Amino acid sequence: MKNYKHLFFDLDGTLWDLHRNTRTAMEELFARYGDHISHLDFELFFQRYHHHNNHVWSLYRQDKIKKEELRYVRFERAFADLNHTSSAQFIDQFSLDFLEVAPRQSLTVEGTHELLAHCKGRYQMHIITNGFIEVQGHKLKAASLEGFFEQIVYSEHVGVRKPHPDIFRYALENAGATAEESLMIGDDWEADILGARNYGIDQAYLSTAEAEQNKLNASHGNDPVRHNYKPTYTLHSLRELIDIL
Ligand SMILES: [Mg+2]
Repeated sequence: MKNYKHLFFDLDGTLWDLHRNTRTAMEELFARYGDHISHLDFELFFQRYHHHNNHVWSLYRQDKIKKEELRYVRFERAFADLNHTSSAQFIDQFSLDFLEVAPRQSLTVEGTHELLAHCKGRYQMHIITNGFIEVQGHKLKAASLEGFFEQIVYSEHVGVRKPHPDIFRYALENAGATAEESLMIGDDWEADILGARNYGIDQAYLSTAEAEQNKLNASHGNDPVRHNYKPTYTLHSLRELIDIL
């Protein structure tokens, strides 16, 4: 193992449990809007949301869709898939409420706090996130993740998103780090793993069995992308990183 000094973490799906927290938030909204949507199949809606959300986030990373559109269309399409006709006003309100409720959820990916406690004082830790500025701070607070990180690098600040090299350049410069002494830890193959690799940073790819199953469900059972590149480390749990570091 290299002598790492800096750890760069992704937030959503890597530390903050995106999948479970999304589900909890969605359940809360289904209860809130019960009159209107209680007849819908929640599981199916959740699955369709996940599918469309993945798609629009992929477009967002490539700068092919604006944030406001992303926020709206993932719900518009999920409702449409269930043949639910909603007014634009309802969908807009639902999507805004989601951004209010979801970031207040506190579940972390298994092993998060053990790993961070293990690394605190041994490494300088940072976050690089494509997530929206106005919600990521709430997530850190809700999940008790504040106080571990030297900096939070927001793609919205930098102007480009992972996997764009400029965001890695910015994060390293800001940290006073070199690529050789840095490790990127993330759950997104393209944004985190290929992004870091292309900037000469070692990568730890978090690929839990549950996350793989979720990806499979969202992709409608189509076999998801097969990767022909081997990251520096592939983790089936964050705890595996404790043994490595
Ligand atoms: Mg992620």
